[in-house]
Amino acid sequence: MNPNSFQPPRRTLMGPGPSDISDRVLSALSRPTIGHLDPLFIGMMDEVKALLQYAFQTKNEMTLAISAPGSAGMEACFVNLLQPGDKVIVCRNGVFGSRMVENVQRCGGIAVTVDDPWGRAITPEKLEEALLKHPDSKFVAFVHAETSTGAKSDAKTLCAIAKAHNCLTIVDAVTSLGGIELKVDEWGIDAIYSGSQKCLSCVPGLSPVSFSPAAVEHIKQRTHKVQSWFLDQSLVMDYWAGEGKRSYHHTAPVNALYGLHEALVLLHNEGLEKAWARHQHMHQQLHEGLALLDIDFIVPKEERLPQLNAVHIPNNVNDAEVRNRLLAEYNLEIGAGLGELAGKAWRIGLMGYGARRENITLLLGALREIL
Ligand SMILES: *Cc1c(COP(=O)(O)O)cnc(C)c1O
Repeated sequence: MNPNSFQPPRRTLMGPGPSDISDRVLSALSRPTIGHLDPLFIGMMDEVKALLQYAFQTKNEMTLAISAPGSAGMEACFVNLLQPGDKVIVCRNGVFGSRMVENVQRCGGIAVTVDDPWGRAITPEKLEEALLKHPDSKFVAFVHAETSTGAKSDAKTLCAIAKAHNCLTIVDAVTSLGGIELKVDEWGIDAIYSGSQKCLSCVPGLSPVSFSPAAVEHIKQRTHKVQSWFLDQSLVMDYWAGEGKRSYHHTAPVNALYGLHEALVLLHNEGLEKAWARHQHMHQQLHEGLALLDIDFIVPKEERLPQLNAVHIPNNVNDAEVRNRLLAEYNLEIGAGLGELAGKAWRIGLMGYGARRENITLLLGALREIL
């Protein structure tokens, strides 16, 4: 063996995540590592919390970044809130809804699924029906932005229905945070999780989460211990509590948190509304360019996510060959179809720092040349 430094090429990342990372975030990652209980680091963590509260539009005290990817944020929400025998309505319209069902079952909960077709939003009336049929439900869980299909669901309406039936809400915002409108407090979201590598454009490996006061109360009233020690939020709470109360739980990923801090500063300085509008505008530009190539969308117009564009692969085009050529000849990554859409769709991400004009121009030009 003659090992050498790994030198990855600079790719343009237009898949379902990780997304393009700006030089500002990349350079933040390489700053000197300091101790995770160093007062300066603790000060930075307090700022990360405040910036996450802004990004989520929440005053929730229990807002933090879990030291693991989005899937751990998902698991944290389920293992902390559910106890054996709890009934959960899970709205499912893609891969990530199915993972929620899996989480419920592993917690010993009872999952009642409300299914919608892949590529469509969740139908609020179906949720209402399920709640009437299952008045003993304690939670409603759904994915705001289904990255597997590019469909956006009406989180505000779904939460209002859940609240009317006295359920706590668990929302997957891995792909929605920073990309489309999301208002945790106003909409009545009780537990929400996201990921660092989608519209926040930071490195993968961190999962911002937030729990409402009602969710925290629910966690405090548990009679069964949370089965995961690492994800037990009652233990992590002490770590993120700040003001001298901070005690060791696990070693925080110090440099990754520098990156998240920088990414959140960028989002804050741009402004949430402006970031949402930029994603929409870039999506429109991509849509117009793809129309000229006769490439159309899987999801109906009103239900499309601007940050994840799932499109039909044109007839007589070799899926893998095109993606491989984009990567090899243009240093450009787009996503393949997932699950039911494997081989049928491409997933084009316009997430965070990746949602900019030059990326769209590069992709459209490359597709024109290859096709
Ligand atoms: C990416 C994604 C996840 C999982 O996040 P990881 O960081 O890959 O663990 C969960 N839900 C949705 C909607 C996602 O897009």
